Amino acid sequence: MKVLVINCGSSSLKYQVIDSETEHVLAKGLCERIGIDGVLTYQPAGQDKIKYEAAMPAHRQAVELVLKQLTNPENGILKSIDEIDAVGHRMVHGGEKFACSTLLTDEVLKTVESCNDLAPLHNPPTLVGVAACRELLPTTPMVGVFDTAFHQTMPPEAYIYGLPYEYYEKYAVRRYGFHGTSHKYVSLRAAEILGKKPEDLKIVVCHLGNGSSISAVDGGKCVDTSMGLTPLEGLVMGTRSGDIDPTCIEFIAHKENLSLEQVMDIINKKSGVLGISGVSSDFRDLDEAAKAGNKRADLALRVFAHSVVKYIGSFIAVMNGVDAIVFTAGIGENDDIIRSRIIEHFDYLDTTLDQKANKMHGEERIISTPDSKVKVICIPTNEELAICRDTVEIVTKKMVEDTVKDVLSNN
Ligand code: ADP
Repeated sequence: MKVLVINCGSSSLKYQVIDSETEHVLAKGLCERIGIDGVLTYQPAGQDKIKYEAAMPAHRQAVELVLKQLTNPENGILKSIDEIDAVGHRMVHGGEKFACSTLLTDEVLKTVESCNDLAPLHNPPTLVGVAACRELLPTTPMVGVFDTAFHQTMPPEAYIYGLPYEYYEKYAVRRYGFHGTSHKYVSLRAAEILGKKPEDLKIVVCHLGNGSSISAVDGGKCVDTSMGLTPLEGLVMGTRSGDIDPTCIEFIAHKENLSLEQVMDIINKKSGVLGISGVSSDFRDLDEAAKAGNKRADLALRVFAHSVVKYIGSFIAVMNGVDAIVFTAGIGENDDIIRSRIIEHFDYLDTTLDQKANKMHGEERIISTPDSKVKVICIPTNEELAICRDTVEIVTKKMVEDTVKDVLSNN
């Protein structure tokens, strides 16, 4: 099957076409500055990236341009859009309604829309992207793969906040967790790398990127995660504060004469390692600045590492043990200094980093020494492939069901 994977942001749209049999990416790219002017990037497998400006007043035009580019007689990878067998959409917030990926029917889309309150920045653009794809590919099955789904196995003690219960009942205020597609993919890969069944493992997955989250995966199921109602909770991130005393919000608003919205904006966009360092949200810049003697950049890196250590430790306690600690995403995959800083706190687990393996880049590998009791593993995440796999599974299931229905009705 050829699967088009779409990941819509408020002003961007990432896409990949994946051949599900070989799991090779046939082409990938990005639409940026949607609603502003529009820039399209397109890269067919094994060829150079092409970038050009094209008007994208809304997501519909972006999808249209992507389809046009994919079928372009000069450098397209498809003869016609009919070659797309299914579309997999990354969906951010499925609330409590979606514990797994699902076919996007009218009814399902209405339910997703009812979760918009929980993710006002993320869900609406996704739905706009789905609507554009349905309009342009009306007969192609569409599947939604939710960032929150993998975390739906958490027990209530992990997801209920210490707030009046009525807010959970009335508004579904609770911990949901995000990056679920990545946590699932990476924890399954970790089990494969260790040659064990997921059911037999306790894994802490550290997805450390621009947004960062940690999950406790016990027996293949998520039992706790660091992000909450929104992706603001948990670790100190690039520009997000992560966990703070909620009183800070009122205190800062009062002292600086700011509205609630203004403080929330600061907590989301001007905090984290950017806020602490005053340098950058990018760990490459911070590593460089710290090396050059910038004390606040160094402090930001230490605060980040400390928050990761705290969550790993607490999730080991939650699972009453751990077999593997896994690093993934931009920082987790690439920043050997941070990994080193984190893992040195786990001497008590009889775990030591193999410094040579730790310094390598870009490939799946165990980075703890062979005699380490708890394994430390680096696994590049691949959310697009995970979305493609779920899409194929659901579409195939539907095709089998439809065939059975046809056979039954013909008899
Ligand atoms: P997103 O949450 O946007 O998907 P990514 O997982 O791509 O983020 O992570 C992006 C972040 O990864 C960058 O902001 C940067 O901090 C970090 N990063 C990427 N490459 C490196 C590197 N070589 N060394 C250190 N940090 C890196």
